Amino acid sequence: MIFKRLRFLLPLLLFVMFGNAQTDSVFIKKIYDEALDKGQAYNNLHYLCKQIGNRITGSAEAEMAVYWGKRLMESYGFDKVYLQEVNVPHWERGTKESAWILNKKGEFVKINILALGGSVGTNGLLEKEVLVVPNIEILKKLNREIIAGKIVYLAEAFDAKNISTFTSYGQCGPQRWSGPAEAAKLGAAGLVIRSLGSEIDEYPHTGVTGSEEGVEQIPCAAISTADSDKLELWAKEGKLKIRMEMDCRLFENAISYNVIGEMTGTKSSEIISWGGHLDSWDVGEGAHDDGAGIVHSIEALRILKVLGYRPNHTLRCVLFMNEENGNFGGKGYAEQSFKKGEKHIAALESDRGGFLPLGFDIEGSADQVSFVQNIAKPLQKDFQLYTFEAGYSGTDIHPLIEYYPDMMQLGLTINSQLYFNYHHTNADVFEAVNQRELELGCAAMTAMVYLLDQNLK
Ligand SMILES: [Zn+2]
Repeated sequence: MIFKRLRFLLPLLLFVMFGNAQTDSVFIKKIYDEALDKGQAYNNLHYLCKQIGNRITGSAEAEMAVYWGKRLMESYGFDKVYLQEVNVPHWERGTKESAWILNKKGEFVKINILALGGSVGTNGLLEKEVLVVPNIEILKKLNREIIAGKIVYLAEAFDAKNISTFTSYGQCGPQRWSGPAEAAKLGAAGLVIRSLGSEIDEYPHTGVTGSEEGVEQIPCAAISTADSDKLELWAKEGKLKIRMEMDCRLFENAISYNVIGEMTGTKSSEIISWGGHLDSWDVGEGAHDDGAGIVHSIEALRILKVLGYRPNHTLRCVLFMNEENGNFGGKGYAEQSFKKGEKHIAALESDRGGFLPLGFDIEGSADQVSFVQNIAKPLQKDFQLYTFEAGYSGTDIHPLIEYYPDMMQLGLTINSQLYFNYHHTNADVFEAVNQRELELGCAAMTAMVYLLDQNLK
């Protein structure tokens, strides 16, 4: 008799002592088991990388990726799968893309170059003297007479002393984002930058660049860090020229889509959404950036579905289009959500590659940061996720904050040491992603979605 009673009393006692922590830990273990033992993310990433490949907004491959994402989510039997139309820019690299340094011996040395996204072409061969400028702040202070008619080379390198490589990216990022416009204001004929990469190698890193209204657009490109070292050394020895040819250009805007999969909430119509971006740069295979975030996100909804989870809130996985050169998918999603009268309470993003997850950066009020730190406790010891600090969430979900200022946002944070070896280069291929690390990322995303759904009012 006493044993019979204990059978009922013990779980109740445990519940009183530990709240939901016990049941959370049991369910989170199931999430990890599914991700690590029966995970589908790695195979899905293989298909996206090898059967479709890189997929810049407006390309045939981007369209293929949209229908691949939709079919895949339909095959998992989510409550709703649909496309959301967005108007997007359409830029193409073209076929010609070459550059040479003319050194003081009169030799042409071929260098590895990638046009920056949004650049205009060179309209035939462009050959000009190079002016090496250490960084964009110094460029802004130079006189027009020194710059006019030259190709400006911006030389700021990744600071190896930062532990997070994203800090280094943030520091030298402005030379790519606003370098071309600043050089053009002073009459430069073109702009070449040292790649925003952490390793010395032969891969140039592309990426989006901005333009300013009323400022003429000039051709702009990145060269590999190995070629940058060469150029910087030779520039100390005498005058150099760069000869370059690119035929990239901007076309009319195109129609594309965000791809959305949902499980309907059983207690609330409020929405927790998460995602990554389906588009990539037009080099490599967009494996880490952001194929990994795409398969992390789809896998999170799949795992909850196969575990028979019945969500309190509506759970929504979004494959965003056009993060790389305009973020029109993210902006369109936020705007259309608001117009429909939806209520968004939390959003998560994975856009830092398929590396070993460490936790989440939290964007929100101090109370929201401590709320996440508190609910994340079951993730610490058993699942080795320890980083839950205030920080940046992600570009795709960020526009939601404008419409829903009270919501919280989380960005999956990973071991960033190798990310900028691959970012926006031909080296960002499927083989650069480790299956185990990718699957741990899937489990981390799923577990955090589960904890938010359980603990948010
Ligand atoms: Zn990305």
